[in-house]
Amino acid sequence: MERIVMKFGGTSVANPERIARAAQLVVEEVNRGKQVAVIVSAMGKTTDELLSLAQEVNPTAGRRELDMLLATGEQVTASLLAMAITAKGVEARSYTGWQAGVTTESVHGNARIEQVQADRIVSALETGAVTVITGFQGADASGELTTLGRGGSDTSAVAIAIALDAAVCDIYTDVEGVFTTDPRLIEKARKLEEISYDEMLEIANLGAGVLHPRAVEFAKNHLMPLRVRPAHMDGQGTVIKEEIDLENNLVVRGIAFERDVVRITVMYDVPYNGSLANIFTALAKHHVNVDIIVQTIREDVQPSVSFSIKKEDFAEAINVLESNKEELGYSRADFEVGLAKVSIVGSGMVSNPGVAANMFDILRQAVIPVKMVSTSEIKVSVVIPEPEMEKAVTALHEQFGLDVTGAK
Ligand code: ADP
Ligand code: ASP
Ligand code: MG
Repeated sequence: MERIVMKFGGTSVANPERIARAAQLVVEEVNRGKQVAVIVSAMGKTTDELLSLAQEVNPTAGRRELDMLLATGEQVTASLLAMAITAKGVEARSYTGWQAGVTTESVHGNARIEQVQADRIVSALETGAVTVITGFQGADASGELTTLGRGGSDTSAVAIAIALDAAVCDIYTDVEGVFTTDPRLIEKARKLEEISYDEMLEIANLGAGVLHPRAVEFAKNHLMPLRVRPAHMDGQGTVIKEEIDLENNLVVRGIAFERDVVRITVMYDVPYNGSLANIFTALAKHHVNVDIIVQTIREDVQPSVSFSIKKEDFAEAINVLESNKEELGYSRADFEVGLAKVSIVGSGMVSNPGVAANMFDILRQAVIPVKMVSTSEIKVSVVIPEPEMEKAVTALHEQFGLDVTGAK
Protein backbone atom coordinates (compact mmCIF):
# COMPACT_ATOMS: atom_id res chain seq x y z
CA MET A 1 0.00 0.00 0.00
CA GLU A 2 1.39 3.41 -0.95
CA ARG A 3 2.34 5.66 1.91
CA ILE A 4 2.22 9.44 1.71
CA VAL A 5 2.94 12.36 4.03
CA MET A 6 0.67 15.42 4.10
CA LYS A 7 1.76 18.54 6.00
CA PHE A 8 -0.57 21.39 6.90
CA GLY A 9 0.81 24.84 7.75
CA GLY A 10 -0.57 27.26 10.33
CA THR A 11 -2.99 29.17 8.11
CA SER A 12 -4.40 25.92 6.76
CA VAL A 13 -5.46 24.78 10.26
CA ALA A 14 -6.20 28.22 11.73
CA ASN A 15 -9.81 27.48 12.80
CA PRO A 16 -12.26 24.57 13.10
CA GLU A 17 -13.54 25.04 9.52
CA ARG A 18 -10.05 24.84 8.07
CA ILE A 19 -9.24 21.84 10.27
CA ALA A 20 -12.35 20.15 8.84
CA ARG A 21 -11.17 21.01 5.31
CA ALA A 22 -7.71 19.51 6.06
CA ALA A 23 -9.42 16.41 7.48
CA GLN A 24 -11.43 16.14 4.26
CA LEU A 25 -8.25 16.21 2.13
CA VAL A 26 -6.77 13.47 4.34
CA VAL A 27 -9.88 11.31 4.08
CA GLU A 28 -9.85 11.66 0.28
CA GLU A 29 -6.31 10.26 0.19
CA VAL A 30 -7.32 7.39 2.51
CA ASN A 31 -10.22 6.66 0.15
CA ARG A 32 -7.71 6.50 -2.71
CA GLY A 33 -6.11 3.62 -0.83
CA LYS A 34 -3.15 5.48 0.73
CA GLN A 35 -1.60 5.08 4.16
CA VAL A 36 -1.41 8.66 5.42
CA ALA A 37 0.91 10.28 7.97
CA VAL A 38 -0.03 13.91 8.60
CA ILE A 39 2.31 16.56 10.03
CA VAL A 40 0.81 19.74 11.48
CA SER A 41 1.87 23.25 12.47
CA ALA A 42 0.38 25.26 15.31
CA MET A 43 -2.96 26.93 14.50
CA GLY A 44 -2.73 30.36 12.82
CA LYS A 45 -0.50 32.74 14.75
CA THR A 46 -0.30 30.53 17.86
CA THR A 47 3.50 30.32 17.88
CA ASP A 48 3.79 34.14 17.79
CA GLU A 49 1.20 34.45 20.54
CA LEU A 50 3.02 31.95 22.75
CA LEU A 51 6.26 33.87 22.21
CA SER A 52 4.68 37.15 23.25
CA LEU A 53 3.15 35.51 26.33
CA ALA A 54 6.63 34.36 27.33
CA GLN A 55 7.96 37.85 26.67
CA GLU A 56 5.39 39.27 29.11
CA VAL A 57 6.11 36.73 31.83
CA ASN A 58 9.89 36.78 31.52
CA PRO A 59 11.67 38.66 28.70
CA THR A 60 14.84 36.70 29.33
CA ALA A 61 13.24 33.27 29.63
CA GLY A 62 15.63 30.42 28.83
CA ARG A 63 15.43 28.47 25.61
CA ARG A 64 14.49 25.22 27.33
CA GLU A 65 11.27 26.68 28.75
CA LEU A 66 10.52 28.41 25.44
CA ASP A 67 10.72 25.02 23.74
CA MET A 68 8.38 23.48 26.34
CA LEU A 69 5.93 26.30 25.64
CA LEU A 70 6.17 26.40 21.83
CA ALA A 71 5.85 22.63 21.50
CA THR A 72 2.30 22.87 22.90
CA GLY A 73 1.06 24.80 19.84
CA GLU A 74 1.47 21.88 17.45
CA GLN A 75 0.00 19.46 20.00
CA VAL A 76 -3.30 21.34 20.01
CA THR A 77 -3.58 21.04 16.22
CA ALA A 78 -2.57 17.36 16.12
CA SER A 79 -5.25 16.23 18.54
CA LEU A 80 -7.95 18.44 16.97
CA LEU A 81 -7.15 17.23 13.46
CA ALA A 82 -7.18 13.59 14.63
CA MET A 83 -10.65 14.25 16.14
CA ALA A 84 -11.83 15.88 12.90
CA ILE A 85 -10.64 12.91 10.82
CA THR A 86 -12.30 10.47 13.24
CA ALA A 87 -15.51 12.48 12.94
CA LYS A 88 -15.45 11.68 9.22
CA GLY A 89 -15.41 7.97 9.98
CA VAL A 90 -11.68 7.28 9.52
CA GLU A 91 -9.59 6.15 12.47
CA ALA A 92 -6.86 8.64 13.39
CA ARG A 93 -4.35 8.95 16.23
CA SER A 94 -2.19 11.92 17.17
CA TYR A 95 1.44 11.75 18.33
CA THR A 96 3.96 14.28 19.56
CA GLY A 97 7.30 14.51 17.78
CA TRP A 98 9.05 12.43 20.42
CA GLN A 99 6.32 9.79 20.42
CA ALA A 100 6.85 9.57 16.68
CA GLY A 101 10.55 8.89 17.29
CA VAL A 102 11.99 12.22 16.13
CA THR A 103 15.40 12.61 17.77
CA THR A 104 17.29 15.89 17.42
CA GLU A 105 20.63 17.29 18.45
CA SER A 106 20.71 18.75 21.93
CA VAL A 107 20.03 22.39 21.05
CA HIS A 108 17.00 24.44 22.03
CA GLY A 109 15.20 26.70 19.57
CA ASN A 110 16.91 25.62 16.36
CA ALA A 111 17.70 21.89 16.65
CA ARG A 112 18.52 19.66 13.69
CA ILE A 113 16.79 16.33 13.31
CA GLU A 114 19.31 13.50 13.73
CA GLN A 115 17.12 10.46 13.38
CA VAL A 116 13.53 9.34 13.01
CA GLN A 117 12.77 5.98 14.58
CA ALA A 118 9.38 5.47 12.98
CA ASP A 119 8.37 1.97 14.19
CA ARG A 120 5.48 3.23 16.27
CA ILE A 121 4.07 5.26 13.38
CA VAL A 122 4.58 2.39 10.94
CA SER A 123 2.66 0.01 13.25
CA ALA A 124 -0.20 2.48 13.58
CA LEU A 125 -0.31 3.00 9.79
CA GLU A 126 -0.32 -0.77 9.26
CA THR A 127 -3.47 -1.05 11.38
CA GLY A 128 -5.14 1.31 8.92
CA ALA A 129 -5.13 4.39 11.15
CA VAL A 130 -4.13 7.85 9.98
CA THR A 131 -1.30 9.20 12.15
CA VAL A 132 -1.23 12.91 12.93
CA ILE A 133 2.17 14.07 14.17
CA THR A 134 3.21 17.41 15.63
CA GLY A 135 5.69 19.21 13.39
CA PHE A 136 8.48 21.55 14.53
CA GLN A 137 9.65 19.41 17.45
CA GLY A 138 11.48 16.36 18.70
CA ALA A 139 13.47 15.29 21.72
CA ASP A 140 17.21 15.02 22.25
CA ALA A 141 18.93 11.82 23.39
CA SER A 142 18.21 12.61 27.04
CA GLY A 143 14.50 13.19 26.42
CA GLU A 144 14.51 16.99 26.54
CA LEU A 145 11.96 18.57 24.19
CA THR A 146 13.49 20.58 21.36
CA THR A 147 12.10 22.72 18.52
CA LEU A 148 13.46 23.07 15.00
CA GLY A 149 13.34 26.83 14.34
CA ARG A 150 10.55 28.92 12.80
CA GLY A 151 8.93 27.22 9.86
CA GLY A 152 10.45 23.90 10.96
CA SER A 153 7.32 21.78 10.46
CA ASP A 154 8.26 21.42 6.80
CA THR A 155 11.47 19.74 7.91
CA SER A 156 9.58 17.40 10.26
CA ALA A 157 7.38 16.40 7.33
CA VAL A 158 10.25 15.60 5.00
CA ALA A 159 12.28 13.77 7.67
CA ILE A 160 9.27 11.62 8.60
CA ALA A 161 8.47 11.00 4.91
CA ILE A 162 12.02 9.71 4.43
CA ALA A 163 11.80 7.46 7.51
CA LEU A 164 8.45 6.07 6.32
CA ASP A 165 9.77 5.61 2.79
CA ALA A 166 6.78 7.62 1.59
CA ALA A 167 6.06 8.02 -2.12
CA VAL A 168 5.69 11.78 -1.79
CA CYS A 169 5.70 14.57 0.80
CA ASP A 170 2.91 17.08 0.16
CA ILE A 171 3.24 20.47 1.86
CA TYR A 172 -0.23 22.07 1.99
CA THR A 173 -0.14 25.82 2.45
CA ASP A 174 -1.99 29.10 1.85
CA VAL A 175 -0.74 29.74 -1.70
CA GLU A 176 -1.18 27.68 -4.88
CA GLY A 177 2.42 26.51 -4.98
CA VAL A 178 5.90 27.96 -5.38
CA PHE A 179 5.79 31.18 -7.39
CA THR A 180 8.46 33.10 -9.29
CA THR A 181 8.46 35.42 -6.26
CA ASP A 182 6.23 36.00 -3.23
CA PRO A 183 2.75 36.45 -4.75
CA ARG A 184 1.79 38.57 -1.73
CA LEU A 185 4.29 41.24 -2.83
CA ILE A 186 4.19 40.94 -6.61
CA GLU A 187 0.79 40.53 -8.16
CA LYS A 188 2.27 39.35 -11.45
CA ALA A 189 4.15 36.47 -9.82
CA ARG A 190 3.62 33.23 -11.73
CA LYS A 191 3.11 29.77 -10.24
CA LEU A 192 5.81 27.30 -11.24
CA GLU A 193 4.83 23.78 -12.35
CA GLU A 194 8.17 22.48 -11.13
CA ILE A 195 11.49 23.61 -9.71
CA SER A 196 14.75 21.80 -8.96
CA TYR A 197 15.91 21.02 -5.42
CA ASP A 198 18.96 23.27 -5.93
CA GLU A 199 16.95 26.27 -7.07
CA MET A 200 14.39 25.76 -4.30
CA LEU A 201 17.15 25.48 -1.73
CA GLU A 202 18.64 28.81 -2.84
CA ILE A 203 15.24 30.52 -2.89
CA ALA A 204 14.40 29.16 0.57
CA ASN A 205 17.79 30.17 1.98
CA LEU A 206 17.52 33.62 0.43
CA GLY A 207 14.36 34.51 2.31
CA ALA A 208 11.28 32.97 0.64
CA GLY A 209 9.32 31.63 3.62
CA VAL A 210 7.39 29.08 1.60
CA LEU A 211 9.65 26.14 2.59
CA HIS A 212 12.06 25.65 5.48
CA PRO A 213 15.55 25.36 3.88
CA ARG A 214 16.42 22.20 5.83
CA ALA A 215 13.32 20.49 4.46
CA VAL A 216 14.58 21.06 0.92
CA GLU A 217 18.07 19.90 1.90
CA PHE A 218 16.71 16.62 3.35
CA ALA A 219 14.48 16.06 0.33
CA LYS A 220 17.39 16.66 -2.04
CA ASN A 221 19.73 14.33 -0.16
CA HIS A 222 17.18 11.50 -0.19
CA LEU A 223 15.54 12.37 -3.52
CA MET A 224 12.18 12.59 -1.75
CA PRO A 225 9.60 14.00 -4.16
CA LEU A 226 8.23 17.17 -2.60
CA ARG A 227 5.14 19.13 -3.59
CA VAL A 228 3.85 22.51 -2.39
CA ARG A 229 0.06 22.52 -2.76
CA PRO A 230 -2.87 24.75 -1.83
CA ALA A 231 -4.95 23.62 1.17
CA HIS A 232 -7.85 25.97 0.39
CA MET A 233 -8.55 24.92 -3.20
CA ASP A 234 -7.92 22.15 -5.69
CA GLY A 235 -4.62 22.20 -7.50
CA GLN A 236 -1.51 20.15 -8.16
CA GLY A 237 0.81 22.86 -6.84
CA THR A 238 4.54 22.80 -7.60
CA VAL A 239 6.73 19.71 -7.80
CA ILE A 240 10.26 20.02 -6.42
CA LYS A 241 12.60 17.40 -7.86
CA GLU A 242 16.08 16.71 -9.17
CA GLU A 243 15.74 17.27 -12.91
CA ILE A 244 13.22 19.62 -14.46
CA ASP A 245 12.29 20.76 -17.92
CA LEU A 246 13.34 24.34 -18.53
CA GLU A 247 10.11 26.32 -18.66
CA ASN A 248 10.34 28.84 -21.52
CA ASN A 249 14.15 28.54 -21.32
CA LEU A 250 14.20 31.25 -18.70
CA VAL A 251 17.59 31.77 -17.11
CA VAL A 252 16.14 33.26 -13.94
CA ARG A 253 13.56 31.02 -12.30
CA GLY A 254 12.73 33.03 -9.22
CA ILE A 255 13.40 36.12 -7.12
CA ALA A 256 13.76 36.06 -3.36
CA PHE A 257 14.05 38.96 -0.96
CA GLU A 258 14.74 39.62 2.67
CA ARG A 259 14.02 42.76 4.69
CA ASP A 260 15.81 44.07 7.78
CA VAL A 261 19.37 43.79 6.56
CA VAL A 262 22.13 45.81 8.26
CA ARG A 263 25.55 46.58 6.80
CA ILE A 264 28.47 47.05 9.16
CA THR A 265 31.78 48.50 7.98
CA VAL A 266 34.92 48.19 10.06
CA MET A 267 37.80 50.53 9.15
CA TYR A 268 41.48 50.39 10.02
CA ASP A 269 43.90 53.33 10.22
CA VAL A 270 46.95 51.34 9.28
CA PRO A 271 47.35 48.68 6.63
CA TYR A 272 45.69 45.68 8.15
CA ASN A 273 48.07 42.88 9.07
CA GLY A 274 45.74 40.91 11.28
CA SER A 275 43.56 38.21 9.91
CA LEU A 276 39.94 38.59 8.90
CA ALA A 277 39.50 35.46 10.94
CA ASN A 278 39.70 37.49 14.18
CA ILE A 279 36.62 39.55 13.54
CA PHE A 280 34.51 36.74 12.14
CA THR A 281 35.62 34.26 14.80
CA ALA A 282 34.53 36.72 17.49
CA LEU A 283 31.15 37.21 15.81
CA ALA A 284 30.63 33.47 15.25
CA LYS A 285 31.41 32.77 18.90
CA HIS A 286 28.45 34.98 19.77
CA HIS A 287 26.19 33.31 17.19
CA VAL A 288 26.04 36.37 14.94
CA ASN A 289 25.23 35.10 11.44
CA VAL A 290 27.27 37.00 8.88
CA ASP A 291 26.01 36.92 5.31
CA ILE A 292 27.82 38.92 2.59
CA ILE A 293 31.42 40.02 3.21
CA VAL A 294 33.29 42.62 1.14
CA GLN A 295 36.89 43.50 1.89
CA THR A 296 38.94 46.33 0.44
CA ILE A 297 42.72 46.25 0.64
CA ARG A 298 44.45 48.73 -1.61
CA GLU A 299 47.45 50.82 -0.87
CA ASP A 300 45.77 54.14 -1.62
CA VAL A 301 42.61 53.64 0.45
CA GLN A 302 41.93 53.07 4.10
CA PRO A 303 41.62 49.29 4.67
CA SER A 304 38.11 48.19 5.53
CA VAL A 305 35.78 45.24 5.68
CA SER A 306 32.00 45.42 5.27
CA PHE A 307 29.57 42.66 6.08
CA SER A 308 25.83 42.23 6.23
CA ILE A 309 23.79 40.72 9.05
CA LYS A 310 20.13 40.53 10.01
CA LYS A 311 18.64 43.26 12.18
CA GLU A 312 17.96 40.78 15.00
CA ASP A 313 21.75 40.21 15.33
CA PHE A 314 22.65 43.90 15.17
CA ALA A 315 22.83 44.67 18.91
CA GLU A 316 24.96 41.59 19.56
CA ALA A 317 27.29 42.38 16.64
CA ILE A 318 27.92 45.93 17.90
CA ASN A 319 28.45 44.59 21.39
CA VAL A 320 31.04 42.08 20.12
CA LEU A 321 32.88 44.74 18.10
CA GLU A 322 32.94 47.29 20.91
CA SER A 323 33.98 44.92 23.63
CA ASN A 324 36.83 43.51 21.52
CA LYS A 325 37.95 46.77 19.91
CA GLU A 326 41.55 46.54 21.08
CA GLU A 327 42.19 42.93 20.08
CA LEU A 328 40.51 43.44 16.73
CA GLY A 329 42.70 46.48 16.06
CA TYR A 330 40.24 48.59 14.08
CA SER A 331 39.82 52.34 14.37
CA ARG A 332 36.16 52.92 13.51
CA ALA A 333 32.98 50.98 12.86
CA ASP A 334 30.06 52.29 10.86
CA PHE A 335 26.66 50.82 10.20
CA GLU A 336 23.74 51.31 7.87
CA VAL A 337 20.27 50.02 8.73
CA GLY A 338 17.13 49.93 6.56
CA LEU A 339 18.57 47.71 3.85
CA ALA A 340 17.17 44.69 2.02
CA LYS A 341 18.62 41.83 0.02
CA VAL A 342 17.18 40.90 -3.36
CA SER A 343 18.35 37.74 -5.14
CA ILE A 344 17.76 36.25 -8.57
CA VAL A 345 18.01 32.44 -8.78
CA GLY A 346 18.17 30.01 -11.70
CA SER A 347 20.17 26.92 -12.71
CA GLY A 348 20.50 28.34 -16.22
CA MET A 349 22.87 31.03 -14.90
CA VAL A 350 25.78 28.58 -14.82
CA SER A 351 26.04 28.77 -18.59
CA ASN A 352 24.90 32.39 -19.05
CA PRO A 353 27.66 34.78 -17.98
CA GLY A 354 25.77 38.03 -18.65
CA VAL A 355 23.06 37.60 -16.03
CA ALA A 356 24.69 39.63 -13.23
CA ALA A 357 25.47 42.45 -15.68
CA ASN A 358 21.86 42.39 -16.78
CA MET A 359 20.67 42.63 -13.19
CA PHE A 360 22.87 45.66 -12.48
CA ASP A 361 21.67 47.31 -15.66
CA ILE A 362 18.02 46.83 -14.70
CA LEU A 363 18.70 48.28 -11.25
CA ARG A 364 20.59 51.23 -12.74
CA GLN A 365 17.70 52.00 -15.04
CA ALA A 366 15.39 51.96 -12.03
CA VAL A 367 17.87 54.27 -10.24
CA ILE A 368 18.39 51.86 -7.35
CA PRO A 369 21.81 51.99 -5.68
CA VAL A 370 23.56 48.66 -5.08
CA LYS A 371 25.40 48.53 -1.76
CA MET A 372 26.79 44.99 -1.79
CA VAL A 373 26.86 42.06 -4.18
CA SER A 374 27.33 38.34 -3.77
CA THR A 375 27.15 35.58 -6.35
CA SER A 376 27.17 31.81 -6.59
CA GLU A 377 26.76 29.51 -9.58
CA ILE A 378 22.99 29.83 -9.60
CA LYS A 379 22.24 33.15 -7.88
CA VAL A 380 23.13 36.82 -7.67
CA SER A 381 22.22 38.81 -4.54
CA VAL A 382 22.33 42.56 -4.08
CA VAL A 383 21.88 44.65 -0.96
CA ILE A 384 19.85 47.79 -1.64
CA PRO A 385 17.87 50.34 0.42
CA GLU A 386 14.75 48.66 1.80
CA PRO A 387 12.34 51.38 0.55
CA GLU A 388 13.47 50.45 -2.99
CA MET A 389 12.94 46.72 -2.53
CA GLU A 390 9.50 46.35 -4.05
CA LYS A 391 10.49 48.51 -7.02
CA ALA A 392 13.61 46.40 -7.56
CA VAL A 393 11.73 43.08 -7.40
CA THR A 394 9.03 44.42 -9.74
CA ALA A 395 11.58 45.61 -12.31
CA LEU A 396 13.69 42.43 -12.17
CA HIS A 397 10.59 40.23 -12.32
CA GLU A 398 9.40 42.00 -15.45
CA GLN A 399 12.75 42.35 -17.20
CA PHE A 400 13.77 38.73 -16.68
CA GLY A 401 10.50 37.65 -18.29
CA LEU A 402 8.84 36.22 -15.19
CA ASP A 403 5.61 38.25 -15.20
CA VAL A 404 2.43 36.32 -15.74
CA THR A 405 0.95 37.48 -19.02
CA GLY A 406 -2.45 39.11 -18.72
CA ALA A 407 -1.94 39.65 -14.99
CA LYS A 408 -4.67 39.00 -12.45
P1 ADP B 1 2.67 27.72 6.24
O1 ADP B 1 2.04 28.31 7.45
O2 ADP B 1 1.72 26.92 5.42
O3 ADP B 1 3.94 26.98 6.54
P2 ADP B 1 4.22 29.97 5.30
O4 ADP B 1 3.70 31.31 5.67
O5 ADP B 1 5.36 29.43 6.08
O6 ADP B 1 3.01 28.95 5.29
O7 ADP B 1 4.64 29.95 3.75
C1 ADP B 1 3.73 30.37 2.75
C2 ADP B 1 3.99 31.83 2.39
O8 ADP B 1 5.24 31.94 1.75
C3 ADP B 1 3.03 32.39 1.39
O9 ADP B 1 1.86 32.90 2.02
C4 ADP B 1 3.84 33.48 0.68
O10 ADP B 1 3.51 34.78 1.13
C5 ADP B 1 5.28 33.18 1.08
N1 ADP B 1 6.20 33.12 -0.07
C6 ADP B 1 7.39 33.76 -0.15
N2 ADP B 1 7.99 33.51 -1.31
C7 ADP B 1 7.17 32.68 -2.01
C8 ADP B 1 7.27 32.05 -3.29
N3 ADP B 1 8.31 32.23 -4.09
N4 ADP B 1 6.23 31.26 -3.69
C9 ADP B 1 5.18 31.05 -2.88
N5 ADP B 1 5.04 31.62 -1.65
C10 ADP B 1 6.03 32.43 -1.21
N1 ASP C 1 4.65 26.72 14.37
C1 ASP C 1 6.03 26.96 13.97
C2 ASP C 1 6.19 28.37 13.44
O1 ASP C 1 5.23 29.13 13.43
C3 ASP C 1 6.53 25.95 12.99
C4 ASP C 1 5.88 25.94 11.65
O2 ASP C 1 4.79 26.46 11.47
O3 ASP C 1 6.45 25.35 10.73
O4 ASP C 1 7.26 28.75 13.08
MG1 MG D 1 5.94 27.53 6.76
